[in-house]
Amino acid sequence: MSKYIEQIKKLVSLQEIDTELIQLKNRMEEAPRHLENLQNELKNLEEQKYHIEERVKLLSEQKKKLQSDIDQDGDKIKKSKNKLMMVSNTKEYHAMMREMDNLEKLNRFREEELNNLLEDLQAQQAKKEELNNQFQSLQDELATTQATLDSELQQIQERIQELENDREKACADVPVPILSRYNFIKDRLHNPVIVSVRQSVCTGCFISIPPQSFVEIQKGEQILSCPNCQRLIYWEEHYSGNPQ
Ligand SMILES: [Zn+2]
Repeated sequence: MSKYIEQIKKLVSLQEIDTELIQLKNRMEEAPRHLENLQNELKNLEEQKYHIEERVKLLSEQKKKLQSDIDQDGDKIKKSKNKLMMVSNTKEYHAMMREMDNLEKLNRFREEELNNLLEDLQAQQAKKEELNNQFQSLQDELATTQATLDSELQQIQERIQELENDREKACADVPVPILSRYNFIKDRLHNPVIVSVRQSVCTGCFISIPPQSFVEIQKGEQILSCPNCQRLIYWEEHYSGNPQ
């Protein structure tokens, strides 16, 4: 194998390592996003839960107050009815009747209010229960996702470490000026850095290289760059791109 082909082969190996590294790093960034979404959903539910619990508490207090008012005035009405038997004064009798009447009206009004309130309370409690169930299942899902994510991230991290080691070895094989060129392009362009030329078309930018460059690349003497995208290029017939 000529020195030129050997260098191309090494650069392509380096490229394969870098491509996998980029993919893994992207996955590491994206993987926690699902978890974040679940966490936001859970927070949202927690807020809803809080509001409904406050509402249930308020309604329960109102219910207690209404019931105690109804009981108190009910007692008053009962007592007045007993007293009424003993009143001989007509004026007093009418005054008491009027008061009883008012209390009875008030209590009827309160009973109505209580009924509405009980309906509302029942609906809120059903909602609360539903929210609690949702919250519970979301919490379970979050725990499972968290566990899977941790092991997935661990695996990715291990593979990255492996690749970083491979990369170091691969770099050691490439002459410094060529490696500098590779790294220079890597820092400035979208992956990949080195691509093949297939029938005079650069497979990095899919634009034909000029005929003169095509003749030059076929000679296989020096590593050329695509005049359009600046990526390193090699003729596909020189090297299949499979380092194995
Ligand atoms: Zn190109």
